[in-house]
Amino acid sequence: MTNREIEQAVSSVYEKYVRSGNSHKQLINIMQSEGIKYKKVPSENTGFVGALTRGVNGQYYIMVNSSVDNLGRENFTIAHELGHYFLRHQLQSGFIYCSENDISEETEAGITIEREANHFASSFLMPEQKIKSAFLAMLRNSKKIKTKDFLYVKNDFSFGIWCGVRDSLMKRYGVSEAALRYRLRYLNLAKFEFQKDTK
Ligand SMILES: [Zn+2]
Repeated sequence: MTNREIEQAVSSVYEKYVRSGNSHKQLINIMQSEGIKYKKVPSENTGFVGALTRGVNGQYYIMVNSSVDNLGRENFTIAHELGHYFLRHQLQSGFIYCSENDISEETEAGITIEREANHFASSFLMPEQKIKSAFLAMLRNSKKIKTKDFLYVKNDFSFGIWCGVRDSLMKRYGVSEAALRYRLRYLNLAKFEFQKDTK
């Protein structure tokens, strides 16, 4: 499945469920409307961060390991599992269990269906047109930078600009910094090359 096809699947979900506002606020509503039960499951199993399962009666469940304590990561995990669901990935023996490596906000996972679910989640939470216009509006409002269509974040004044942009966009789209950075790089809007670890 190409990224373009995945984005078309995201558009169909938007037409049905996200008329206005930001998509992360619709995750619970989408699961309810699709008849998917959502559960947070305490598990020591590090191979399980999220899962999509289907019971013998056809009931779908999305489960997230309750050790996921970051809201952005939780949103990304639900959106990733919805990706498996809407992209109609085959459930082997009725389930797909996704590990830390599978649900990757920052790098492309090796397994095809995991990479597809990650692209679905990224595109769903941060739609290209919306994040692009929000991001570029912030750059235009910044007096310090000359390039208004790309942000190169280094160990200089650009880092301070990035912090402001980051805080605002993470809140608006309900995502982690890792997910945001990946999306901006993917859309050729930013590049990151700094030493400071801000997490
Ligand atoms: Zn997965």
